[in-house]
Amino acid sequence: MSDLQENLKKAQEYLERFRKEPIGHFINGKPTPGLSGEYFENTTPHDNSSLGQVAKGNEADIDQACEAAAVAFADWRDISGAERKKLLHRFADMIVERAEEISLLESMDCGQPIRFTKQAAVRGAANFRFFADKAPEARDGKALQQPEHSNMTLRTPIGPVGVITPWNTPFMLSTWKIAPALAAGCTVVHKPAELSPITASLLAEIAREAGIPDGVWNMVNGFGEVAGKRLTEHPAIKAIALVGESLTGTRILHQGADTLKRVHLELGGKNPIIVFDDADFDRALDAVVFMIYSLNGQRCTSSSRLLIHEGIKERFLEALQARVNDLRVGHPLDPETEVGPLIHTTHLEKVLSYTEKAREDGATVAVGGSRREDLGAGNYYQPALFTNADNNMRIAREEIFGPALTAISFSSEEEAIKIANDTEYGLAAYIWTNNSGRAMRLARDVEAGMLWINSENNRNLPSPFGGIKSSGIGRDGGDYSFDFYMETKNVCFAHGTHRVPILGR
Ligand code: NAD
Repeated sequence: MSDLQENLKKAQEYLERFRKEPIGHFINGKPTPGLSGEYFENTTPHDNSSLGQVAKGNEADIDQACEAAAVAFADWRDISGAERKKLLHRFADMIVERAEEISLLESMDCGQPIRFTKQAAVRGAANFRFFADKAPEARDGKALQQPEHSNMTLRTPIGPVGVITPWNTPFMLSTWKIAPALAAGCTVVHKPAELSPITASLLAEIAREAGIPDGVWNMVNGFGEVAGKRLTEHPAIKAIALVGESLTGTRILHQGADTLKRVHLELGGKNPIIVFDDADFDRALDAVVFMIYSLNGQRCTSSSRLLIHEGIKERFLEALQARVNDLRVGHPLDPETEVGPLIHTTHLEKVLSYTEKAREDGATVAVGGSRREDLGAGNYYQPALFTNADNNMRIAREEIFGPALTAISFSSEEEAIKIANDTEYGLAAYIWTNNSGRAMRLARDVEAGMLWINSENNRNLPSPFGGIKSSGIGRDGGDYSFDFYMETKNVCFAHGTHRVPILGR
């Protein structure tokens, strides 16, 4: 049996239960079909066949989950950091025990190749372990001295929070957002993306088995405009952490205004990768290919604009074209596959539409950009490389969110910075140069929340993660996450020596 056949067989076994019984919600420690009585179909990007039904949560389901999170908050807030640490480590252990199941189901549900989802469980567990270890120090503050007063800051969890996640790497992103919230002492209502609900339901199951108290972790499936919207409006919810499109971020700001929600928004990007003629050619080429064609290009930090120095443009694009031509598109469960099917037929249509837009705007479609009919009824797309582009074209301005790269040339450092910044987005930027002074200048001048110099996207959990401009508000990672999920109080102690102002004597 080939590796693909073996993976398929195992995946079918894991999928069996979802075909038999709809995926429900998880409220106050219990699985529930919900109050709406309505369901929607979940399909696999591989061939658009059904993976089963999912409960379509409505406002009443969200209300129940928010009330459960509100009731559970007082106890969860007050348990010791050490106890929280133990529980979150147990949770991480259980994720690792189910690593194979998580990876196979994630690949079938969202089309990501198994070579990437294989690490999803380990990375998800690492998110839990990192924040588990930080739980005992979550309340720590600062001591700020004055001559006659001493100030002490305290942190307390903000309350029940809503976490709303997208479909591109659903398991990883859910753990990345929920782990710090729980470590901080918040209770959670999670609304997963409607296009990829499976691994979120596994997480809720693990929460119960790991002994997370009832009401601390709630999960409601459903659509953004109904379930998601109500979550952002519910008065018991004190903060909303969203990973999604920039337009969704705007909507959430409006929806949460009446209840003064604190928001953390991780949104879209049109990230530049800038390659200078003094860069290490081969390493830069590897990084350019990896950062746009891995994870099906459905990645917020994907480098979708290549800014290439004129001096090496011809040689670089020739080598790049050969690599893009050779990308292995195929079944997400095949270990050889490098690019899997796109999440949904409508998303495939959107990505495909940019091939025509590229031509209309005057660019060259150097590779791909078409549907892979030969791979069946799924959402298979031949990864694209657009050349002879400029930064005004739609392929350079709009987030395609697929395996499609737009190459633009530049002739000077100033021009590279100008093009890099000429975008509404500001999530990530990648800079390839062996000139350290130039690297420092670009780090200062390129408008992005995260920059990598001579590297692809490298994860460091204590580092701040997030974007500027239309790419978001706020930062995740390390203590930055606690700043979001907690309130900071200042307590001022007088030394008994200062003069208290006197009135009316
Ligand atoms: P999306 O914005 O359509 O959906 C994200 C989530 O928001 C889903 O759960 C959806 O149901 C919910 N939602 C939609 N409308 C809502 C509303 N009015 N109120 C409340 N919730 C609502 O995004 P998507 O298509 O699922 O994901 C792709 C997007 O996510 C891309 O733009 C990508 O760049 C972005 N993303 C950003 C990061 C980051 O860290 N910056 C990471 C991954 C993905």
